[in-house]
Amino acid sequence: MTSPGCLSSQRRVKLSPGDTIGIVGGGQLGRMLAMAAARLGLRCQVFSPDPDSPAFDFVANASCAEYADVEALELFAGDVDVITYEFENVPAASAMVLAARRPVLPDRRILETTQDRLVEKDFVKGLGIGTADYADVVSPQTLRAAIEKIGLPAVLKTRRFGYDGKGQAIIRPGDDLDHVWRDLGTKSAILEAFVPFEREISVIAARSADGQVECFDVTENEHRDHILKISRAPAAISDTLAAQALTIARRIANALDYVGVLAVEMFVVQGEDGPKVLVNEIAPRVHNSGHWTLDGASVSQFEQHIRAIAGWPLGKPIRHGQVTMTNLIGDEIDNYEQWLTVPGATVHLYGKGPARPGRKMGHVTQVRPDGRADLRTHAKPEVRPDARPNTRMPPAPGTP
Ligand code: AMP
Repeated sequence: MTSPGCLSSQRRVKLSPGDTIGIVGGGQLGRMLAMAAARLGLRCQVFSPDPDSPAFDFVANASCAEYADVEALELFAGDVDVITYEFENVPAASAMVLAARRPVLPDRRILETTQDRLVEKDFVKGLGIGTADYADVVSPQTLRAAIEKIGLPAVLKTRRFGYDGKGQAIIRPGDDLDHVWRDLGTKSAILEAFVPFEREISVIAARSADGQVECFDVTENEHRDHILKISRAPAAISDTLAAQALTIARRIANALDYVGVLAVEMFVVQGEDGPKVLVNEIAPRVHNSGHWTLDGASVSQFEQHIRAIAGWPLGKPIRHGQVTMTNLIGDEIDNYEQWLTVPGATVHLYGKGPARPGRKMGHVTQVRPDGRADLRTHAKPEVRPDARPNTRMPPAPGTP
């Protein structure tokens, strides 16, 4: 239990089994955090305005109220020993109310950096880490000036509240700029050079309050319609490039004095001296591209986050093999029974309501132990609604 005298210091949180973690946000990330906490003997209480929050299924207590409800926030804070969040758009005012009463980890001030694409890019650039060229845009006139500087094609993004490609527009030569600006519907945006990336990768890093950093192996990510569809670990990149990506994630975590798990999304591009890495985005939370760690590593990203905010030692993650994580998006969830029959597949369903287009409903992990080529890893072309269940059993681990 954290003593009331040290609430302002993130460094002194030390939970014991039986203590309670408050999670702000009730989606699948909160749900999987609560599951990881339960396995470590810790309780969770989730704060979410949505009565159908998937995370409510796994918690001792649920606080169902609006994020602006100060009284509910105060009651929630009073019930828990430390507070964390599962999404980065926690309103600053709510985070401040919570932080006045209990330690909030990662520190709420990190949200100020990561909630705003311009502030975030300035921060990354300030560390001497590469990003796409970018410029601040506040009007059609500044958009034209930004295009002069950056060129086309380019990507116009809202500075705040963008995710899964929402709040973004690609601008190509000849596009009607007034129209593009109007359609984006914001007063503050950022124009980024369009990056002709070879691949997208991410690093999931955990950092403890005493500065220990543990990274999972670099993950390679494939998006469809701007939404993550498949992650593969390890990424098919050289050791040099992987080391570069891991160093970048470490430097960002250290510079933020971060406590918990963060994800750094990056592009791999061809530079003059060979491939190099540019940072696209920082997510101050557990991340979809780290879901493979639930079944593909000795410790998951969710457990690492719980350990970090509890003041417990981090795990040293060991990957179990070549891992593929496939998201079940929208009505793909209807295939869950077929996925259940795929040898070696581990199915995760989030218990969400209606399967709206683009909604992440679950995921499947497949692990191929290193040195084995005989297990199916990519169910993408193989699992179809009309597919017959595959009853072939995989060889037992350890058989030649
Ligand atoms: P974001 O919301 O910034 O993570 O962007 C979502 C996806 O859009 C990324 O994963 C990329 O596939 C693509 N994207 C974002 N920014 C750029 C860029 N500057 N150049 C090329 N593709 C981009």
